[in-house]
Amino acid sequence: MTFDIKTIGILGSGTMGSGIAQLCAQQGYEAQLYDIDQSLLDNALRRIEAGLQKAVEKGKLAAEQVPLVLGRLTVHTQLSDLAGCDVVIEAIPEDLALKQDIFKQLDSLCKPETILASNTSSLSITALGGATKRPQQVAGLHFFNPVPVMKLVEVIRGQRTSDETMNALTGFAESLGKTAVIAKDTPGFIVNRVARPFYGEALKMLGEHGSNPDMLKTIDTVMREAGGFKMGPFELMDLIGIDVNFAVTQSVWSAYFQLSRYRPHPIQQRMVHAGLLGRKTGEGFYQYES
Ligand code: NAD
Repeated sequence: MTFDIKTIGILGSGTMGSGIAQLCAQQGYEAQLYDIDQSLLDNALRRIEAGLQKAVEKGKLAAEQVPLVLGRLTVHTQLSDLAGCDVVIEAIPEDLALKQDIFKQLDSLCKPETILASNTSSLSITALGGATKRPQQVAGLHFFNPVPVMKLVEVIRGQRTSDETMNALTGFAESLGKTAVIAKDTPGFIVNRVARPFYGEALKMLGEHGSNPDMLKTIDTVMREAGGFKMGPFELMDLIGIDVNFAVTQSVWSAYFQLSRYRPHPIQQRMVHAGLLGRKTGEGFYQYES
């Protein structure tokens, strides 16, 4: 089977879905972005336009390209509109049952050749493939945040993913200017498994100091200034989204049969309950201007 990839469907117009849609349209693909509500799509379009403007200011995109890029982007609230896509990339919340349900729907709607990919940070690609009748055409395609900037993409092979699908997605990721790395279908793949203690130990330390804001800043500063990390753990959790990070932590912890090393922290849970989700809500560990 040969794959001629032109049209990309993206499910979920949040942090990751909007970034993936922007990148695909910038690189010449037709991007069809789906979400459950038009107002979410309107917000995503505003973020994408702002992202393109930023790229122009940085000299990475010619101003006259902006309308052309936007012209390659359409938004949809009907899943069936994505039926003709060559690749569909799912970027909805980190919930296995929710993702399996949408994979099942996509399987029955999409043309037989469509590859179904997931941007999941931690969930089993094999379990997503198992929800469809085309597990050989299901794989992980894990981008990092912010999508237009971060170079790495993990391409994850499920138990029944075919070589053709892996090759097609690797080539596709490279055509987006990314570095594709093949990862095994184990909880958290490569990056999110290695990164778990980065967040977990920082949260434990913060808890031991009674959530003292000075301690929080100290940990971030030390990791950035002396540790050589681009961002401290709390700054990074705010960028990712506290809800997303908490869901990924829970997923990796339960997938490793509740291994204590990966245990979520009550601070994360409390912040999710309070709606303090990081940059996207204007407040997380830090406060942000809108
Ligand atoms: P988000 O909360 O910003 O966006 C999720 C979007 O999905 C929302 O717009 C929501 O309306 C939409 N949605 C919810 N249910 C839906 C449904 N049934 N059909 C279609 N859309 C639906 O989340 P995010 O940060 O973009 O994360 C999405 C996925 O990407 C998750 O699996 C997450 O683990 C993964 N991921 C996140 C990051 C990150 O830094 N945020 C990085 C890599 C991977």
